[in-house]
Order: sequence, then structure tokens, then C-alpha cells
Amino acid sequence: MASNTMIEVKSLSASFDDRQVLKNVSFTINEREIAVILGGSGSGKSTIFRHMLRLYDVPYNTIRIFDKDIADLNESEQLVFFMKLGVFYQNGALLNSLTVGENVALALEQHTSLPPDIIENIVRTKLELVNLGDAYQLFPSQLSGGMLKRAALARAIIMDPPLLFCDEPGAGLDPVSLASLDQLILNLRNLLGITVVMVTHEVSSILRIADKIIFLDDGVITFKGTPQDALKSDIPVVKDFFSKGTG
Ligand code: ADP
Ligand code: MG
Repeated sequence: MASNTMIEVKSLSASFDDRQVLKNVSFTINEREIAVILGGSGSGKSTIFRHMLRLYDVPYNTIRIFDKDIADLNESEQLVFFMKLGVFYQNGALLNSLTVGENVALALEQHTSLPPDIIENIVRTKLELVNLGDAYQLFPSQLSGGMLKRAALARAIIMDPPLLFCDEPGAGLDPVSLASLDQLILNLRNLLGITVVMVTHEVSSILRIADKIIFLDDGVITFKGTPQDALKSDIPVVKDFFSKGTG
């Protein structure tokens, strides 16, 4: 594993009820990279994602993150592992009974013993980072769809994770809100050096922010490379995907 490798997936296979949904999947993601896992509905994107988050049983020697086999972590290593991950789920709803500020503060309150004024400072800084400086006192019901996503993003990065996972972060957004969410994710990488793994099928997002594309077709990786290479690819499913999305 090279020194700047953040994630290494090696021959990962997975089955549900005797049906193989991932077949020998291998790829690496480097530090500070924005990597996009791409593919049609049911191709296995979320299944890869859930393995990297250890939500499913991971076979030994298939996934290394932070230079450790994630199937082989002891209890304290697991805790460290999860503290270093930011996760932005597709339906990462905020708690409606709490203000935006309170929602974003939750992890700091649970996992640190920082005093309230320091927590408030950190939360306000993170909200400013996602252009929600004025939303601290607002309730989720008072926010637009795009603002809710950005609040969820602030919550995902509150512990300064070196690694951020996003599963279809832009789902349901209009093109303008999607573009501004993409810009924020790009800023996070540029300003904080966060490595980002994103699952999406939004072609416009990919072309805007991806350094690396990992293309899945029915559980098999059919393409790995830059967006520029993907656009020039002769692989039929890849060609198809991009011609549909950009047309
Ligand atoms: P994607 O995120 O690319 O749309 P998924 O990774 O969610 O695809 O799913 C890949 C395939 O695995 C699909 O056919 C899906 O029905 C199946 N699958 C995913 N999770 C489960 C599960 N927990 N149990 C059974 N089948 C599943
Ligand atoms: Mg999915």
C-alpha cells in the first residue's frame, strides 16, 4: 500500500441470497482525492459503500483504510476508525426537534468533553464553511432542500474527519443547489484536505468534481480513470452512461 493510499479494496466479492452482487472489485483511492463510484441502479454502489463503512461483514484482506485491514480491528481501533469517518447519507435527515446548531453539535457533545462555548464556536465555523452561517438557530423545517443537505454536510464533518463518504448527496436537488453542494465538497477537499468517496449517478456532478471514476456494471468494475478518460471511453456501458447524462 503506497504511503498516500487512503483506501485499498482488493478482490471484494459479496452475495445476497446466493446472488453475487459484487464480483472481484478492486480499486485504490488516494489521500485528498475525490473518487466517484458510478453505475446504474442496482449495480452495487451502495453495497461497496456499506462494506467500506463496515455495515456489512468484511472478509479479511479485502479492504484497507487508514493503512489497516478493516476486517481486523480491535475494539479501540474500531472506535478510532469510526471517529475518522464522516458519513453523509442520502436521507441523512436532521432531527426536527433540534435547531440546526444543535443537530450539528451532537457528535461533539457525545464524543468530546469540550465546554459549550467551544462547541458553539466549532459548530458556527462549520456552518459558515457550508454557507449556513445564519442558520444556527433555525429548525430543519425552516430550511430549503439544498440548505438541509448542507446542514447534513456540516454535521458529517464536525469531527474533522480525514475521510468523507457521501452516498448520493445530491439526490433530489435542483441543478443549481446540486452545483453549489458540489462546490462545497470541492472546497472541503481543497481547504481541509479531506478525501471524499462519493456514490452518485449525477453526470454533471462527476464532471465537476471527480478526480477518479470507478464505474460499476452489475457488480463488476468496467472502468477506472479520470472523467476525461471516461468521456473518451469505448466501453459501451460507460459510453452510454455519459452520452445519456450529458445530452
Ligand atoms: P446501487 O447502490 O448501485 O443502486 P446496491 O448496492 O444497493 O445498488 O444493490 C446491488 C444489488 O444488491 C441490487 O440488486 C440489490 O437489490 C441487492 N442488495 C443490496 N442490498 C441487499 C440486501 N441487504 N439484501 C439483499 N439484496 C441486496
Ligand atoms: Mg445505492
